Amino acid sequence: MTTWPQHNASADEWADWRWQMRHRVNDLATLERYIRPTDGEREAIEATRGIFRWTITPYYASLMDPLDPACPIRQHVVPQAAEVAPDIVGVVDPLDEVGHSPVKNLVHNYPDKVAFCVTSECAVYCRYCLRKRMVGDADFMMRKDELREALAYIRRTPAIRDVLLTGGDPLVFSDANLDWLLGELRAIPHVEIVRLGSRLPVVNPMRITDSLCAILKRHHPVWLNTHFNHPKELTPEAQQACARLAEAGVPVGNQSVLLAGINDDAETLRQLSEGLVRMRVRPYYLYHAQLIGGTAHLRTPIETGMHLMRGLRGHTSGFAVPAYVLDTPDGKVPLTRDYVLGRAGDHVVMETTRGTLWAEPNPLPPGAEPAMVLPAIEMPEEARTVPTGAPRFVYAETA
Ligand code: SF4
Repeated sequence: MTTWPQHNASADEWADWRWQMRHRVNDLATLERYIRPTDGEREAIEATRGIFRWTITPYYASLMDPLDPACPIRQHVVPQAAEVAPDIVGVVDPLDEVGHSPVKNLVHNYPDKVAFCVTSECAVYCRYCLRKRMVGDADFMMRKDELREALAYIRRTPAIRDVLLTGGDPLVFSDANLDWLLGELRAIPHVEIVRLGSRLPVVNPMRITDSLCAILKRHHPVWLNTHFNHPKELTPEAQQACARLAEAGVPVGNQSVLLAGINDDAETLRQLSEGLVRMRVRPYYLYHAQLIGGTAHLRTPIETGMHLMRGLRGHTSGFAVPAYVLDTPDGKVPLTRDYVLGRAGDHVVMETTRGTLWAEPNPLPPGAEPAMVLPAIEMPEEARTVPTGAPRFVYAETA
């Protein structure tokens, strides 16, 4: 019988999503069975303790290059020294999700849609996570009465037709809990669509079992958006998980995040998109990375993303080209010349789909030539931006 030496697992254990969750790597000694951590990674593991958890499924850990610290999988989930370096623009909640939450963990920022953060647990903790303020934090776990309170809000708000179950990761729920939650939502007449936002097809593809697919089928229409960022993640296991979802009638889309040093080149993005399409997964969004504190090393100039999109559009199938967008407190903004007005110093100014102006802090690295040149403009007085006094993550080293 095949075994996986790092964890001494049988083939059956390895293929069991619960076994993967129970045996996640979250201590240095176990991590050393997969990679040779650098001094910087060792220090970052210490320095981020109590600020932002790290944990990795054995499956995802097995994709890491043991010797190359620049391995894209490794940069996703192993704390990096750069995380604790000063980050002049990074904040805790750049989209003001807390301010848009009428009840705990329910973000209501569009009239007809809500993002329902049903749990704070994920299978891995991505180092650039938008919800770094809450994922992995027990205070943000949802008790049953809190889930019921959020359901009651959706029930009494008839404008909500689209519910995104997110987190954390909703697929860490047991089948029984997920079945219950989907059933409650389906019983609300004005909820037309339920969407799941889940990284489990990427980091624990064993979760997409026949019994899960049977549950999803019972509650259609259910859509799922997953989150592949790099072609190295497109493994046979992930492919099988996406095929199961497709066969259960679940349309699967992909939301990537543009990350410096991980996927910020046209060839990587093209391979990712074409690989996804082969797996019947539609590349949907390429998000510009958010201003989350401790992620400056992963953010790119907006010009880089716009330039990369020109390398995709017209160079592969049209449906393999995702929309490059920035999420703002005023909704998502397509990062195209229709919406992006220009650069005002360290900010890129854009018109939102609500007609407001948003100025995204996006300083160019010192001495860097942007990949394309945006018109130089004055900062419009009415443009909103991230408040300078917004709460920031405080790391032991920088406190
Ligand atoms: S799986 Fe999603 S919610 Fe969880 S840490 Fe990664 S990006 Fe954040």
